[in-house]
Amino acid sequence: MTVMKRYVRKNILALEPYSTARDEFKGGDISVWLDANESPYDNGVNRYPDPHQRKLKERVSELKGVDQGSIFIGGAGSDEAIDLTFRIFCEPRVDNVIAITPSYGVYKVAAAVNDIEIREVQLNDDFSLPVDRLLAAADSHTKLMWICSPNNPTGNAFAVADLERLARSFDGMLVVDEAYVDFSTAGSMLPLLPELPNLIVLQTFSKAWGMASLRVGMAFASPEVAGLFARVKYPYNLNGPTQAEVLRRLDEDISGKVAELRHEAVGLSRSLSEAGCVVRVYPTDANFLLAEVTDADRVYDYLISNGVIVRNRTKMPGCRNCLRFTVGTPEENRRVIELINEFK
Ligand SMILES: *Cc1c(COP(=O)(O)O)cnc(C)c1O
Repeated sequence: MTVMKRYVRKNILALEPYSTARDEFKGGDISVWLDANESPYDNGVNRYPDPHQRKLKERVSELKGVDQGSIFIGGAGSDEAIDLTFRIFCEPRVDNVIAITPSYGVYKVAAAVNDIEIREVQLNDDFSLPVDRLLAAADSHTKLMWICSPNNPTGNAFAVADLERLARSFDGMLVVDEAYVDFSTAGSMLPLLPELPNLIVLQTFSKAWGMASLRVGMAFASPEVAGLFARVKYPYNLNGPTQAEVLRRLDEDISGKVAELRHEAVGLSRSLSEAGCVVRVYPTDANFLLAEVTDADRVYDYLISNGVIVRNRTKMPGCRNCLRFTVGTPEENRRVIELINEFK
């Protein structure tokens, strides 16, 4: 048994995956398709899509510099990859996972859905990564460690070297959620994938790529682990029109938009920090800013009454009186700055 298989649930290792009609078809020149009980009337969507998403994976492989065999693509965004990770590795009511807090809320929900204990380890006061406390929280039933970098809602990215140390020291799977990596200068964990067999990297097309509505997220891992995702996923988890639409949109060059948002983030941060009701704005490696204000609930309601919605994070650990501002267009950012300056 390879090292990684030690971490996998026994039922998943034993699983005989569902074999689709399209799986069993192995080439040949077919013109009459009578194998899948589809409607024969061509309306553009009458045939099942490619369950292996080959064309899309080929493009993602090119884009990310990762072998196709190391890619999982989900049709319910990264959230699908998060849920599958729990289901592959964690035995309900037996295993546990570690996650940083404050962080993305879906890890906790997915843990609860799967009946897995989650051990939350609070970031240091400056939101830096408490590597030793994270490692100390693990026991022999800890299968996963969830780290979001750049982290939502704090905005900071963690050093690749620290994440690498975690991966090398942790006896379980390290999951690094890089939803905002396209905005960050801290770098990705993807180049370390061949060296770190216990690493899973999550990315998404929902943020910098502007395809949130399409719901396409990815997991990257060793071929062995990516193979487990392929076995456990629903066979047709990414519908045909979405596969085609993402493929088409991946030809867009997003670097101009990313550069504009990064530039806007700097300006928004500076203007917010000068406003009377803003105590401080935390540095960001993402397309949002966490700002501590004098009274988060009041500023939040005031912005809403003026037609602007931000995220109130005041109840999250270490985030008292903090609001999270997504960086918008230059006009949107001007509007929010104007409102914040007028707050009484
Ligand atoms: C937005 C976000 C995602 C993306 O989720 P999708 O389901 O792919 O849209 C993942 N992780 C974090 C931390 C996020 O903030």
